Amino acid sequence: MRVAHNPTEIQQSLGTLRKQKSIAFVPTMGNLHDGHLKLIAKARELADIVVTSIYVNPLQFGPEEDFDTYPRTFEEDAKKCQASGVDFIFHPDNLYTQDGPKVTLCVDTSLSVPLCGSKRPGHFNGVATVVNLLFNIVQPDFALFGEKDWQQLVIIRRMVQDLHMPVTIVGVPTQRESDGLAMSSRNRYLTPDERLRAASLSRCLHTIRQGFHDGESDSKLLLERGRNVLAGADIEPEYLEICDEETLEPLPRLSRSMRARAFVAARIGKARLIDNMPLYTMEAINS
Ligand code: AMP
Repeated sequence: MRVAHNPTEIQQSLGTLRKQKSIAFVPTMGNLHDGHLKLIAKARELADIVVTSIYVNPLQFGPEEDFDTYPRTFEEDAKKCQASGVDFIFHPDNLYTQDGPKVTLCVDTSLSVPLCGSKRPGHFNGVATVVNLLFNIVQPDFALFGEKDWQQLVIIRRMVQDLHMPVTIVGVPTQRESDGLAMSSRNRYLTPDERLRAASLSRCLHTIRQGFHDGESDSKLLLERGRNVLAGADIEPEYLEICDEETLEPLPRLSRSMRARAFVAARIGKARLIDNMPLYTMEAINS
């Protein structure tokens, strides 16, 4: 495994290899956990060469957010990458021009404002810009993203489609702790008590999914049941919604044929956590 610290280094390393071999790319902000490693394992299955980037992208953090305190654990991350069969880590200090980026991508408000967008203005423009930039540097055949950040996955898929980017986007299901909490680098901000309460986020989504499976089609009533689960853990959600998983538009009434997905975000102590679950598949309902 090699570590490249700037765009030239990674481009030189991949330059001749890419002629004969396929490349799968896993962009991350580091502090790797089993969710990230699942993406890396899938990348390993798909391509000859696996590249992981570790870069805490300033452009996607708001002024009040945790850019400065975001966990940076490169040594441990590198060991995990090595053990998981990563070929190259791309670990740049900074990806932007000295005076800051003057040209960035702008995501349509229909996708950037719902759900996380309203509380994180500019976040998805920052994500789209850095992913575009990383794609230009790495030029992968495949790029893997977690379903945990569903809105991000939808936006990246749309970016690749709309801008005709020559890369295949692969979504990977959410990796969870044994009590259902979606793995996240931000879980480490939780105190032991908050950690226990945080499991109610996925319980809330399960309750909604079970309610739908049992025949309830009124989203308002399903969401009320979900809210009750959260209230039991003293959690007031930032949002709790059932939306079409592609357009992200709220769905007031549900049917089996809809691609409906429940989404939740909440602040618990210092952590802002998100989760989502599909409502439509039997497989998902039984898991
Ligand atoms: P991050 O380092 O948080 O930017 O995440 C890097 C990638 O890992 C993104 O595509 C995330 O969606 C994905 N990811 C983060 N947590 C999980 C998880 N629990 N399960 C699956 N993928 C995840």
